[in-house]
Amino acid sequence: MMYLRRMSYTSSLLPIYNQIAAQQASGKVADYIPELAKISPDKFGAHLEMLNGSGSQSVGDSHEKFSIQSIAKVFSLSLAYQLLDGKLWERVDVEPSGTPFNSLIQLELENGLPRNPFINAGAIVICDILSGLLDNPAEAMLRFIRDLSGNDSICYNIRVAASERGEGYRNLALANFIRSYGNIENDLDQVLDFYFLLCSVEMNCVELAQSMLYLARGGKNHLGQTILTPSQAKRINAIMLTCGFYDEAGEFAYRVGLPGKSGVGGGIVAVKPEEYAIAVWSPLLNEKGNSCRGMAFLEEFTSVTKSSIF
Ligand code: GLU
Repeated sequence: MMYLRRMSYTSSLLPIYNQIAAQQASGKVADYIPELAKISPDKFGAHLEMLNGSGSQSVGDSHEKFSIQSIAKVFSLSLAYQLLDGKLWERVDVEPSGTPFNSLIQLELENGLPRNPFINAGAIVICDILSGLLDNPAEAMLRFIRDLSGNDSICYNIRVAASERGEGYRNLALANFIRSYGNIENDLDQVLDFYFLLCSVEMNCVELAQSMLYLARGGKNHLGQTILTPSQAKRINAIMLTCGFYDEAGEFAYRVGLPGKSGVGGGIVAVKPEEYAIAVWSPLLNEKGNSCRGMAFLEEFTSVTKSSIF
C-alpha cells in the first residue's frame, strides 16, 4: 500500500513550487564571477524526469538556460572514470572536504592530492587528466555531455568562461599549488582554460535532469549504451552524496537525502537511483554556495514523495 502514502511524483511539483515561491526569498546571487552577478535573483524553475519515460514535469523557469558551474564536474568525473577506471583515484581522493569549495588549506597538508573530484582542486586535476588523455578535451567533453542529454544545442558560454578567467586568482593559485606537488602534468594555462569552459556549460532544468538520468539507470544512457559500469555509477552517486554540496553535504543528506550536485549558478541536480533525476534552479545562494530555494524545494519534494534514499 506504499503508493497510498506517496504523493504522485509529478503532481507534487507545482504545489511545492508555489509554496516555496510564496516564501520570502533569502540568499545572494554569486558575484565573484561578474557575468553571474547579472542574473535575475527571481529566476526559479524545476524539472523532474522519471526513468524509462514514465513521466516528467516542469515548473517555473525550467526552460531557461543557466550556468551549471560545478554541476559540470559530475560530467568531467564520469568521462575520466570511463577512461581510467580505478587508476583515477591515484590522482584524487573520495573524501568529503569539510572546507569551502575553493580552499587551499588541505592541499598542503595532503601533498597536493585533492580531497575529492568536486572541490575546485579535484576538478582541476580531473581537467588535467582529461587534457593528458584527449587531443581536444573541451570538444570531447562537450560531445560527452551532448550525447548524455541527447541534445546538440548544449554549449559552453565563452563570455562566462572569460569572465571567470579574468578574476580566477584563487583557481590559478590552486592549480599552481597542485602543480608544485607534481599532480598537474599538462600546460597549466590550457588546463585552466578547459576548467573555466567546463564550468561555463549552460543547460536548462529539463536538459540537466535528462542528462543525469544515466546515474539513475546504473550507468546506461537513454539509448541503453553503457556510459559507466553499475559499480562506477554507484560510486559517483556515493561521491555526490558525500561531497556534492561543498561543506554542506551533510546538511543536504540530512534534509534531502539524495545524491546530488550544486553549482554557484544556483542549480542543483539530484538523483534517485532506479527512479528519477530532478533539477532545480534559483540563483540565490546561502553562505555555503548552495541555492536556498533549491535546497528547500528538494527537501519538500523528497519529504512529500517519501523518496529520500534513507
Ligand atoms: N567555476 C566556479 C569556480 O571555480 C565553480 C564553483 C562552483 O560552482 O562550485 O569557482
